[in-house]
Amino acid sequence: MNSHPSRPVVLCLSGHDPSGGAGLQADIEALLAQGCHAAPTVTALTVQDTVNVSDFRVLDRDWVLAQARAVIADLPVAAVKLGMLGSVEMVETVLEIMQALPDVPLVCDPVLRAGGGGALGKDDVGYAMRERLLPIAAVATPNLPEARILAELPEGSADQCAEKLLPFCQNLLITGGHGDEEQIHNRLYLRDGSRHDFTCVRLPGGYHGSGCTLASTLAGRLAHGEGLVSAVRTALDYTWRTLRDAEAPGRGQFVPRRLPLDFCG
Ligand code: PLP
Repeated sequence: MNSHPSRPVVLCLSGHDPSGGAGLQADIEALLAQGCHAAPTVTALTVQDTVNVSDFRVLDRDWVLAQARAVIADLPVAAVKLGMLGSVEMVETVLEIMQALPDVPLVCDPVLRAGGGGALGKDDVGYAMRERLLPIAAVATPNLPEARILAELPEGSADQCAEKLLPFCQNLLITGGHGDEEQIHNRLYLRDGSRHDFTCVRLPGGYHGSGCTLASTLAGRLAHGEGLVSAVRTALDYTWRTLRDAEAPGRGQFVPRRLPLDFCG
């Protein structure tokens, strides 16, 4: 008998941010906070601080496949979270990895820009995600600028982007943090045609890693078996609190506080 039941395992395929605000560190912290075990699989390395990204390098496909296969052969993966992929080849690599996990919910955060605006992949990577990964993702979580790139609608509203993207998607959450409305409107478009709006108060300042926090938390909630709408609400609420309690460890954007201060005792 197994006397050591484990927390749900979430395979994270994301980039590494050495400033610790975004990427795999964000995934690990958010998943710990949800009572999940993160399996952090590196897709890319970045050079960045809390202000912006200056360079990145995508890992060799063989290395990413080997990491993911080692995890999948050993751990019961309950959900997968995608972050920065960085190249069209990496999109294909993820597709290959997902073939081994056909019934596992996939949360796709189509990362193309750092919080400071620097590129983390060409727009072609976004188009490849749209064609290849959105169809197999339980939910995609673009912010409005990312949704505009994916939809090829540079000035499009969330609704216009959703109309263009929904044929590719199962479910789509377009977050509104990058807008300038007084309230933030996060819009969830479901495959059955229904829509849920989640509104929250806009907090002052810029944040680094908010999208990663949201997508990982959502993957964690799905790994626990929570239904999609409830999981989205939980993930948005948690992410908002991490931003409210954010820290300024460097000269740039705030970093979400994803774990309580006394987490390590
Ligand atoms: N993934 C990596 C590795 C990053 O470096 C970044 C931003 O710098 C992101 C994802 C996206 O960050 P955010 O959650 O701020 O959109």
